[in-house]
Amino acid sequence: MPEATDNTSKLRLTKDEMKHYGYQVIDAIVDHFETEHTKKPVAYASREEMDTLFNIEAPEKPTDFQDVFDFVIQKVIPNSNIVSHPKSYSFVPGPSNYVSVMADTLATGFNVFSGGWAASPAAAELEIVTMNWLLKLFKFPTKKGGGLFTSGGSMANLTALVTARRQCCGDDFSKAIIYMSDQAHSSNIKAIRVLGFKKEQVRIIPTDIEFKMAINKLKNAIAKDRLEGFQPFCIIASAGTTNTGTVDPLNEIANICKTEKLWFHIDGAYGGAAILSKKGKQLMKGIEKADSLTIDPHKWLYQPYEMGCLLVRNHKWLSKTFSEKPEYLRDIEGNTSEINFYDHGIQLTRRFRALKFYMSMKTFGLNAFKNAVTYSIDLADDVEQHLRKSAYWEVISPATLAVINFRYNPIGKSFSEKKLDTLNQQISQKVLASREALLVTTILQNQIVLRMCLINPRTTLNDVKETLALCESFAQDMS
Ligand SMILES: *Cc1c(COP(=O)(O)O)cnc(C)c1O
Repeated sequence: MPEATDNTSKLRLTKDEMKHYGYQVIDAIVDHFETEHTKKPVAYASREEMDTLFNIEAPEKPTDFQDVFDFVIQKVIPNSNIVSHPKSYSFVPGPSNYVSVMADTLATGFNVFSGGWAASPAAAELEIVTMNWLLKLFKFPTKKGGGLFTSGGSMANLTALVTARRQCCGDDFSKAIIYMSDQAHSSNIKAIRVLGFKKEQVRIIPTDIEFKMAINKLKNAIAKDRLEGFQPFCIIASAGTTNTGTVDPLNEIANICKTEKLWFHIDGAYGGAAILSKKGKQLMKGIEKADSLTIDPHKWLYQPYEMGCLLVRNHKWLSKTFSEKPEYLRDIEGNTSEINFYDHGIQLTRRFRALKFYMSMKTFGLNAFKNAVTYSIDLADDVEQHLRKSAYWEVISPATLAVINFRYNPIGKSFSEKKLDTLNQQISQKVLASREALLVTTILQNQIVLRMCLINPRTTLNDVKETLALCESFAQDMS
């Protein structure tokens, strides 16, 4: 055997190099946490600019680690939006938290395999324990219930729908029909496509004036499908749509699922976490009746990417759907209470996601999470009051679960609808170009409106007022 002559061929650094490298990484991250609010949240770069910076052949020869590190800090990091910035209002912000960042670093540093009990009893146990915390929070049965962490909400929805289909349809799902509202998240449609359903097997139910799934139309659709010989099997409700934060009528949908014997999936990827607040809990009534529930800790539970979660009423549904025993896993089947999470979902090799949830919850305490969620819901209410009192702004969908939609529509001007659409689109474009705030539009009832998602507990009313003032100054220049 030829002896390796240097560390590089073993993909190793010396102890001192590793420490030096690691401390610089920590310094950079801490510096970011301390100064991000002083930076601009919006990055913009064209493909051409990025190619010019980064596009090289895979280098055959080594580069000094310091040079690689410096290059990344100077060129890669600044070319991304800062989603934890207090003025990042768009899509769903990612407020994150430092404890979980360190937990992820530990999970990666020790490269803990979180697939099966035998590989890491502690990792499996922490996933069981944190899953129980969540089951309890959402009033799911804690003995029978179960779930797992996934890469995000999209994977949780996919995992839920595979399970639902396995439980309800068996192998022939050619007549199966799925129902969801026109405000349901696109990841559900993606999941349905991945599963091989045809477009004709999905019923998009219109929403009412408050953006809730129209129950009467849902009932009509189910009845009609039965008459035509189809097999209704699953309703997907939203507990907090991404667009407006609206919660579908969960109790009514639960009743329909019960009488019609349908699977009840709730996509709470955006809004589920609101159950931590008094107002949210009120809105989430009925969430405990779901067969499966998606939540997304990397959104409003302040975890860094990637962390989604699926909860189910009966953990056996997952093992019935996902157990597949290859020969080489025979020897490590333990006690049935010793869960192998590879039997509960799609991934075999899984990173140790539970650690960040566990460490941040333990460090800050559940109360801190409750306060943070409550703060954001109240902040959105304050923003709504502020907008209503202003002569420039019109509220289009009221503050719900920390989301609010509004548009520039100054009194006394009577702009046409078309003009208002253009104005609001341009306001967003100007704000993005200034890079001062991440604020984009969405479309509600055929109107182009500005949308703010205020789940960052470090965003203040003053941040929002500054952003609105900036919007007003752009608008006045244009109109
Ligand atoms: C964000 C979101 C998803 C998708 O979750 P990812 O973590 O982005 O994969 C699904 N549903 C809703 C309602 C969401 O807001």
